[in-house]
Amino acid sequence: MGATSGQGRQAGGTPRAALADLLAGNRRFVSGQPVHGHDVTAAAAASGDQQPYAVLLGCIDSRVPLEAIFDQTFGAICVIRTGGHVLDRAVCGSIEYVVGQLGVPLVMVLGHERCGAVEATVQALRTGQRPSGLLAHLVDEIAPAVTEAGIDDPAVQPLAIRRHVRRTVRTLREDDLLAGPVAAGRVAVVGGLYDLATGEVALIDPG
Ligand SMILES: [Zn+2]
Repeated sequence: MGATSGQGRQAGGTPRAALADLLAGNRRFVSGQPVHGHDVTAAAAASGDQQPYAVLLGCIDSRVPLEAIFDQTFGAICVIRTGGHVLDRAVCGSIEYVVGQLGVPLVMVLGHERCGAVEATVQALRTGQRPSGLLAHLVDEIAPAVTEAGIDDPAVQPLAIRRHVRRTVRTLREDDLLAGPVAAGRVAVVGGLYDLATGEVALIDPG
């Protein structure tokens, strides 16, 4: 199978083809049949100009290595990771660069189950104790999703994780430089959720 040569891998490919390639990589990973080893041979093969086909924003969680769970080789995807995939100016600027300058048609925001950043936010809101230092910034950014999910709901954490993904997706769709290409259908911003136990990625906001 031409697992790495889908249409989405070409410059100027469609968002749909890029998403299909990305999800095909996750299926290879889940089935225990990845085709990409991360060795120096692959690094050398990708050492020319880069032509990534997707940019992924995920959490820093050590259990969610994005290149691995989508079975992607060097040069295929741009990856940004912050606690709870929280946005800031550097993150948005980086995504604008990848979409605007490298012509990437797909942005995926990937949340995951049992996210520590969301858990910290739930605890902060329940106890009324805002964390010290810049961790407070993460909590402030995630708090609206937790409030929407309902702080007293026993299932607040999984609900808030999903809402936070959708909120992040919505914010990116409304980004000054992304809104035009998104409205024209040249770029898609989608949301996904990673299952720590099975390795599967489910789309929860396919755009
Ligand atoms: Zn997390």
